Amino acid sequence: MDRETLRRQLEFYRDLGIRELRVEPRAQPAQALPRAAAQAEPQPGVRPIPSPNQMTPSLIPMGPDNDSLEVIRQDIGDCKRCRLCEARNRIVFGSGNEQARLVFVGEGPGADEDAQGLPFVGRAGQLLTQMIDGTAAKEGMAIRRGDVYICNVVKCRPPENRTPLPDEMEICGQFLFRQLTVIQPKAIICLGATAAKALLGVKEGITKIRGRWHNWRDIQVMPTYHPSYLLRPYNQNAKREAWEDLKKALHYAYD
Ligand code: SF4
Repeated sequence: MDRETLRRQLEFYRDLGIRELRVEPRAQPAQALPRAAAQAEPQPGVRPIPSPNQMTPSLIPMGPDNDSLEVIRQDIGDCKRCRLCEARNRIVFGSGNEQARLVFVGEGPGADEDAQGLPFVGRAGQLLTQMIDGTAAKEGMAIRRGDVYICNVVKCRPPENRTPLPDEMEICGQFLFRQLTVIQPKAIICLGATAAKALLGVKEGITKIRGRWHNWRDIQVMPTYHPSYLLRPYNQNAKREAWEDLKKALHYAYD
């Protein structure tokens, strides 16, 4: 591996939050393994789902040089890389303009998204559509929801809509990073603290970090509230703030 490839690979692992890399000893020939260990060897094409305690950062291949959204979707396949595969109905990859200047990143699919295989199609999704279409129209911009790209940190619905666990975000985050690297938008809007944490590694709550530009691999990132939070009736101020954040991002991406 040449130095440039190694540098890019290490940068990729750093973005995934991997702080340590272990060098595995070379595999022993199968006949040298104790009988029990040999029987425990995974079958070709079968990936056992590790328990939470077994999950440790593993080396994840970067996207190929000719990466595309289609290649990423093929690589995901019928993914069983984390426990979220167990209760999902459909993998929710993402939708929208594949050359979008603005990408929205949410947390993970909910029940409606899991049923339809599309991101942000439930109540929160309808609010997001209103926010995008309404704000753009008010600002005199000919932008509709179909002009942006929308995806999530994890592609399978967490049970009971719980927050994805760190290892789930780490494993599935590789696909998000590849999607963003392929699309190369001018700006990204993180919808909620989980998306902000996945991309920016921040620990602060969304109220602390929203409304300001951050950076992910030279792409401007604007964290704001998740639409499902805005649906709560007492969040009028948050709604106003989210509209302001969106206005800022739309102008930055499309002016
Ligand atoms: S959440 Fe992501 S990594 Fe986990 S099973 Fe689904 S697609 Fe695979």
